[in-house]
Amino acid sequence: MSDKNLYPVPQEWAKRARVNAEKYAQLYGRALADPGSFWLEQARRLDWIKRPEIAGDWSFREEDFRISWFPDGKLNAAANCIDRHLKTRPDQVAILWEPDDPAEEARRFTYRELHAEVCRFANVLKGQGVQKGDRVTIYLPMIPEAAFAILACARIGAIHSVVFGGFSPEALAGRIQDCDSKIVVTADEGRRGGKRVPLKANVDAAAVHTPSLEKVVVVRATGGDVAMTAGRDAWYHDLARDADGDCPCEPMGAEDPLFILYTSGSTGKPKGVLHTTGGYLVWVALTHELTFDYQPGSIYWCAADIGWVTGHSYILYGPLANGATTMMYEGVPNWPTPSRIWEVVDKHGVEIVYTAPTALRALMREGDDWVKRTSRGSLKLLGTVGEPINPEAWRWYHEVVGEGRCPIIDTWWQTETGGTMIAPLPGATDLKPGSATKPMPGIDPQIVDGDGNVLQGAAEGNLVIAKSWPGQMRTVWGDHGRFFQTYFSTYPGKYFTGDGARRDEDGYYWITGRVDDVLNVSGHRMGTAEIESALVLHPKVAEAAVVGMPHEIKGQGIYAYVTLNAGEEPGDDLRGALGKWVRTEIGPIATPDAIQFAPGLPKTRSGKIMRRILRKIAEGDVSNLGDISTLADPAVVDDLVANRVS
Ligand code: ATP
Ligand code: MG
Repeated sequence: MSDKNLYPVPQEWAKRARVNAEKYAQLYGRALADPGSFWLEQARRLDWIKRPEIAGDWSFREEDFRISWFPDGKLNAAANCIDRHLKTRPDQVAILWEPDDPAEEARRFTYRELHAEVCRFANVLKGQGVQKGDRVTIYLPMIPEAAFAILACARIGAIHSVVFGGFSPEALAGRIQDCDSKIVVTADEGRRGGKRVPLKANVDAAAVHTPSLEKVVVVRATGGDVAMTAGRDAWYHDLARDADGDCPCEPMGAEDPLFILYTSGSTGKPKGVLHTTGGYLVWVALTHELTFDYQPGSIYWCAADIGWVTGHSYILYGPLANGATTMMYEGVPNWPTPSRIWEVVDKHGVEIVYTAPTALRALMREGDDWVKRTSRGSLKLLGTVGEPINPEAWRWYHEVVGEGRCPIIDTWWQTETGGTMIAPLPGATDLKPGSATKPMPGIDPQIVDGDGNVLQGAAEGNLVIAKSWPGQMRTVWGDHGRFFQTYFSTYPGKYFTGDGARRDEDGYYWITGRVDDVLNVSGHRMGTAEIESALVLHPKVAEAAVVGMPHEIKGQGIYAYVTLNAGEEPGDDLRGALGKWVRTEIGPIATPDAIQFAPGLPKTRSGKIMRRILRKIAEGDVSNLGDISTLADPAVVDDLVANRVS
């Protein structure tokens, strides 16, 4: 590995950060050598009603399959995120809210105010008949009430199921029904990028298919016109008028459910991932502190939507458990202009930004000027999550956005894992662009081959986790069999992530993409991420997606979809040039067999490329593209089908 590809921990980070290289080695060693005492000690991060005396009790084997953490403990998640801070920092801002429209005022809620808002919301839910264990579907835009509603559920022991506000009525209906939710909390409309999203109308459309639905609580966000169904629908502000500003916290068993969250749906029918209370909260509090080296007083911004696990763990539960000031942003990265994120950073003095490669690539495509016209002087750390970040985007983030001064924290994790699993710690880990680097304390990753043999040293294969950790999901809602089948049957005794990875000679992990996406070209296994990274490195290419297609000789051929930078023209010359480019970057074996220029790629609502659909198109099997209801813009599919390269 040449020096050009290694970014050592900056001196001042090694000195200042909570965890340096030595401390990381210590933590990592202890967590695996003596998990019982390590995790009981970590549990002390939280306030318990009854402190646990048992740490992990688990087996991944079929005969005695079980996962539990701190099973004898009792606590309340909302009390940990709010009430316990009332003594130490009542007047510190807990939630800093930035509206879609930059002309409007930001809003701030101190811990004291957050307490009152959450209590009021909790009492409203109780008034609607919600009890401990009931499922509450939350279909809200990125407004403060989304945080209040989530924490209100936690306070009274109801299980929240947040459905991203960009989902269609069909997707919403499926998620309401899957968990038999009797109540939906929504808003009249949402706002994103200056446009309105008809949330209440979507709920009305979904309700046609959801017999279990009894109540709809509507938050007035935009004041837009909506129809209200008598007996079923009520305005939040009407219900809240007489609601008490205090509400006791329900004592919860550590293993009582906290929430259900449906995965983003890139690979098939969404799964209702269930997380429980104690282990999840310990895990997100620990990982939020380690991954971002959060220091009291810092303004921290996770730019994900609250509808994704990233929003759950790193806008709300992790930062609030740690007493942070967490920012919530209603809008999108590129509105009104591609400068918005960086303008918001300047406006609020944000020190930590956490976003997704898809957003970075979109901004990168618009050119550096949008970034450079802002100061960004407050930035200290830049995080990324959601997909492999191609080294080109990594370097842009590091050099253009962070001006070489901010560590890039590439975090690999999943809805299923609750929090970050493989990620550098800013004061401890030298960085390599494109690598998620090293595991968090307590995480024991292994690379296995197709037969389940554990590969040692530098190796490439399937990524599994050999031991349980507190933030692990506990079941698929309503389908425990599917839980075992999906994650524990492929490699007995291990949690199978579904992702491929390479471990290099320094023990660094490189996620190569989903295992389903790994190509086998003439007997060579290749991650799609690597070929995509090579394509994106070309100065004219903004984004690329690579899938396999049947090939008579090679077994699998390489089909690449390429989106060009603003102002670039597609054509056969460029097609040839791109083929040569990949050949030089990786080798002849990686040369695409077909390149299709695409104005847009099919993406999930969370911005991930849906390769399942691209694979079907590449194979010429366009009659049955499967469920496309979770696509952000289904219209791009027609263009892709029409311009297929055969
Ligand atoms: P579904 O499981 O329904 O197909 P999903 O896997 O997209 O949806 P998430 O749990 O949001 O749902 O995403 C987790 C996946 O995202 C990981 O398994 C991995 O493939 C990818 N991923 C997340 N972060 C990273 C990262 N830093 N580097 C590489 N891949 C990542
Ligand atoms: Mg997944």
